Parts: sequence; structure tokens; C-alpha cells
Amino acid sequence: MKNIRNFCIIAHIDHGKSTLADRMIQLCDLVTEREFKDQLLDNMDIERERGITIKSQTICLPYTAKDGKPYLLNLVDTPGHVDFSYEVSRALSSCEGALLLIDAAQGVEAQTLANLYLAMENDLEIIPVINKIDLPSAEPERVALQIEEDLGLDSSDIQLCSAKTGAGVEDIFEAIVSLLPPPEGDPDAPLQLLIFDANYDPFRGTIISVRVINGTVKPGETIKFMSNNQQYRVEEVGLFKLRKEPQKQLSAGQVGYILAGIKTVADTRPGDTITHAAKPAASPLPGFKEIQQVVFSSLYPISTDEYEDLAAALEKLKLNDAALTFEKDSSAALGFGFRCGFLGLLHLEVIQERLEREFDISLILTVPSVQYIFYLSDGTRLTVDNPAHYPDPGHIDKIEEPFIKATILMPEKYMGPVMTLCMERRGENTSFHYPTPGRIELNCELPLAEVIYDFYDKLKSITQGYGSFDYEMLDYRKSDLAKLDILVNGEVVDALSQLVHKSNARARGLHACEMLKQEIPRQMFKIAIQAAIGGTIIARTNVSALRKDVTAKCYGGDISRKRKLLEKQKAGKKRMKTVGNVDIPQNAFLAVLKSD
Ligand code: GDP
Ligand code: MG
Repeated sequence: MKNIRNFCIIAHIDHGKSTLADRMIQLCDLVTEREFKDQLLDNMDIERERGITIKSQTICLPYTAKDGKPYLLNLVDTPGHVDFSYEVSRALSSCEGALLLIDAAQGVEAQTLANLYLAMENDLEIIPVINKIDLPSAEPERVALQIEEDLGLDSSDIQLCSAKTGAGVEDIFEAIVSLLPPPEGDPDAPLQLLIFDANYDPFRGTIISVRVINGTVKPGETIKFMSNNQQYRVEEVGLFKLRKEPQKQLSAGQVGYILAGIKTVADTRPGDTITHAAKPAASPLPGFKEIQQVVFSSLYPISTDEYEDLAAALEKLKLNDAALTFEKDSSAALGFGFRCGFLGLLHLEVIQERLEREFDISLILTVPSVQYIFYLSDGTRLTVDNPAHYPDPGHIDKIEEPFIKATILMPEKYMGPVMTLCMERRGENTSFHYPTPGRIELNCELPLAEVIYDFYDKLKSITQGYGSFDYEMLDYRKSDLAKLDILVNGEVVDALSQLVHKSNARARGLHACEMLKQEIPRQMFKIAIQAAIGGTIIARTNVSALRKDVTAKCYGGDISRKRKLLEKQKAGKKRMKTVGNVDIPQNAFLAVLKSD
């Protein structure tokens, strides 16, 4: 155990986490130059393009220190967005230390601080690393001062590096070995394995990433998940080199994988404890939480003959994403589809993009909704997350909606506008304090429904990217809500209905009409768009009719150009859904919720 170090890299986005991870892998001779592909750890296209790491992936780096002793350094990769903050905290708790990576030109940023707090909550030893020192705009002295004064970390431990050129990376390895504590734990105690990730492999079943806290696990043994008592026989244990490398056993302090013929990741929950079935540990490890879906939306294929493909694609994604839920759904306007539950809106967008890119399915998403509790006049209590199932307003006694406790960290100067944003979103019980001079931590209770759409984007733009946001579920509170229906040419489009607070129902109705007017292209006839509450029209607008044939301006002369134009229209059509006799584009369904 003395020669093991378990660590992660935490950073603000774009400060170079993936690049540093790649450089470390490269310097450890795990890969040949030819095999090396930039950003090895971010293995999904979407992650690479958006620069976010969603699935954590761990790697075991063999390193011979300057003192001549061999070490195993386990680099645990962590996701970087609030939707996945529970996964982050599970990954952190499998480490003893963290490299806090800071861009030498950008300095300390919001997510630097938020991540540092998470690491401190998990009692990690922190090594500050200033990256990108090769940049002409690098100001390592200024950043070092920030690290000391704003973060309160010891500046004598600061490492300077360029993940791009590799300069200073060797010293980071030495710092990890000398500054981070080796793992503790008793290899002879009853088994406690912390699950921090799970990935599905079509040939081997679920690959569980674990940190052995206590005990020793070997192939052939029967293990048990402490959250649900499911039992499995261990087939293989091993280390994450670039390929999985089987071992005879894994024991206290080690990070590695377990294969146990598990068919779906849904049974394997991050944060859960695995123990021996025969000689179980007295208690599970602390901190386990059930995954909770908070945002729900229905997914419909644009062309109805893609329904089966969508079903198969969701099955496939689910194998690797325990947080995704789905069940059959149908809509008068959109036909057959699936009601899906997500961790948050980023999670929703990631799934949408993967379905469209990896499975080539064009989708309509309905307005995302949270779960509401309806108390009906006949005494029934209903939990509903689908606007299509909202009960008849005439029968509703009261409605409760979920509230969250939001924690927002930001530089002091943004306090005013952020408070205003929270108040606009019906925030309650606001309080704040100064964790470090010049920075404010704002706590606020907010309706989840007001947060799910663009709260995070708004916050980012108000604070110029310096605001960080995290939340936890709080409780359900009685609220004065009404169902807002949207009618297109007199027909209610069920997929566009949403619950709104009565105080801003009219404004929301007007806004929804306006957004739809912008999104729905002009057609051969006039289209009336109306917003209604309980049958009363509260807002309306029109999309005026198209007068001329679009191809007319080609003068009938250039045939190929005419054909091109028609093809373009057809491609555009593929992302439209015909409701009644009106073509509604994909974007319109989400645009309704956007605030401007
Ligand atoms: P992440 O979001 O923290 O994973 O950041 P990435 O590793 O994706 O890096 C963000 C950008 O910074 C990429 O364009 C990298 O090429 C660049 N980058 C990372 N490290 C360095 C460095 O040391 N020097 C320079 N000049 N650029 C770097
Ligand atoms: Mg990255």
C-alpha cells in the first residue's frame, strides 16, 4: 500500500485537465507514440467537442520515482458539470489527493473554487498546479499569489507545468509521490469496495470501477451489493492500464475493476458498497445516494417509422447510463415515443445529441418538466411529470412543486444581478456569506422548475463565467400553478403544455406565442398561435401566410439550382413535425421555455 497513490485532477473547464492526463499517460510509457491519440480519456465525440468529461475513466500509471522505488499512481478522472456532481463526489472519495489545475493566463475561476470545496469536503490533500506556463500571456507569479491569498493554499507546494510541452510534468509525479499520503485500510478486514463508476462492455458485461477501502477481493468469490443485496460471482479483478489488466486479487488501497457477469449498469450504483456475501462488512460506506431523475421530457422520432430504432437506441444507451430512465409514451400530436428521466438538462442534451449523432435519429423533445404532486378534489394524490397527464384544472385542490437549495459561488461584484435573477425565479430564504475575501456564497431556495431551463446559462452570462452553481433537492411546496396550453390553428398541441406560476402565466403565454412565431416557418396559409389557461385564451399571435412559391425567384431558368432549393427544403422538413396541418420545427418545442 505504501507505493500506491490515488489522485484526481480538478480544474475549471479548459484549464487543461485532459491534456495533462494525456501527457502523464504518455510519460509513463503506457502507450507508444503511434497509439497515442490526443485526449485519450475523453473517448466520446460529444465530450471532445464540448470539452466536458461525462463518464469518468480511470487509469493506473506505473511510475519509478527518483528514489528508485516503483509506484502505482491511480488517476481517477471526474466529470465536470453540476448535473454530475454526485458522480464527482464519489470519484473524489476514492482518492487521497487532488491536483488542482489552474491556467497560468486565466487564474482562479469559479469552477476552480467549487471543485476545491468538493475536494476539501472529501478530505483530500491538494497540490496546486499552474498549467500552460508556455503561453506568452502566462502570469505564474500572479496566479501563485491568488492560490495563496484567495484559496488559502500553501504556495510552497505549487507545481508549474505545461501539459502541452510536457515541461514540469515529471516534477508533478514526484510531488504526488512525496506530498500525497498513501491509502489506508486493512486488507484483512471484511470487504468494503466503493463503487465509483460502471461501464458496459457488450462482451464482458458491466465493468465496475472500485476503490478497495478494506479487505481483499479475488475471482471466484461471491460478492453482494449492500444497497439491494444482489449477489454475483466475481469473474475477474484487475487494474486499469490502457487495457484492462487482470490481477490475482485487489486489496485495501487499490483502485481497479471487477467483472461479475452483470448484465446492466442499472444494478451497479455509484456510491454503493460491495462486500462479501459470506462475511459481509458490518455497515456500508457512508455517502450513498439513490440516483434521482429530476427532469423529464418525452422523446418522439420525427418520422414515425423510426420508433423501433429509437427504442433500440435507448436500450443501448441505458446499458451504460444508469441515470437514464425511459418508458413508452404517446401524444395526440406526436404519436408514439418515450418518456425519459434525466439528472438535469445537460444530461438531457447529451442523450439527445447521442441519439441524433450515434444513432442518426431525428427527434422532437417535449417541454421538460419536473415532477409535480397534484391533490385532487376527490382526495387522490397524483405524481405527474408529463404535461400530457396533468389533471383537469377543475378537479385540482392544490399542487406542490419541488424546491431545491441552490449554492452559488461568485466574486462579490456580481451579487446584485444574481440576487435579481434568483428573485425573478421565485427564490426564497436567501442568505449569503464570504468563504474567502471578495467572494460570496449565496444560498437560495428555488423551485426546480424555474432552474431547469436556462438558469445556469443565465447565471454564467451574468457572472461572465465566474459564477458556479450547485444544488440539492429540498422538499415539495404548495404553489399557485396553472396549466398553460398552446393551440396551433385551434388545436391544443399536448407536447407544448406546461405548468406555470399564476403570477407570470400571462407573460409566459405571450412569450411562448412569440417564440413559436419566430420558430414556425411561414406556410401557404395563416397560422394562429394561442396560449390558453383552462380554456381562456390569454395570448395570441399569427404567422402570416406565404405568398409566393419559393422557387419562383429562380425564374424557372436554372434547373439545378431549383432542385437544390427543393432538396434544402426537404432536409429542413426532416426536422419538422406536422401537427394538424402545420409543420412545427424541432426547435420550437424547446424554444417555448427559453427566456429570450
Ligand atoms: P479541460 O477542459 O480541462 O480538459 O482542458 P483541455 O485539456 O481540453 O485543454 C483545453 C485547451 O487548452 C486545449 O485547447 C489544450 O490544447 C489547451 N492546453 C492545455 N494545456 C496546455 C498548455 O500547457 N499549454 C497550452 N498552450 N495550451 C494548453
Ligand atoms: Mg477535458
